[in-house]
Amino acid sequence: MNMLDGNALAGDLDDIFTVDVTTARFVCATCGHSGAMATLRLFGRTPASVARCPSCTEVVLCLVKADGRVFLDTRGIARLELPMSGA
Ligand SMILES: [Zn+2]
Repeated sequence: MNMLDGNALAGDLDDIFTVDVTTARFVCATCGHSGAMATLRLFGRTPASVARCPSCTEVVLCLVKADGRVFLDTRGIARLELPMSGA
């Protein structure tokens, strides 16, 4: 399976968030690593994407598109820091 970086999530996450989430910072719930969403290691693409922590390789985010909906599992993120619009 090909691995991409978190930048490849930009289009899918644009369907949910109005800010560019790839510039947001995450804190891994497993190891505490903090980094930009763009640094996540991405496996798979539509309809299911799994993003793993670049430090410990645990699953940080899972995104599935099905039945006209987007299902987003973020249990691997302890904290997400999003830029405020205009900031
Ligand atoms: Zn981690």
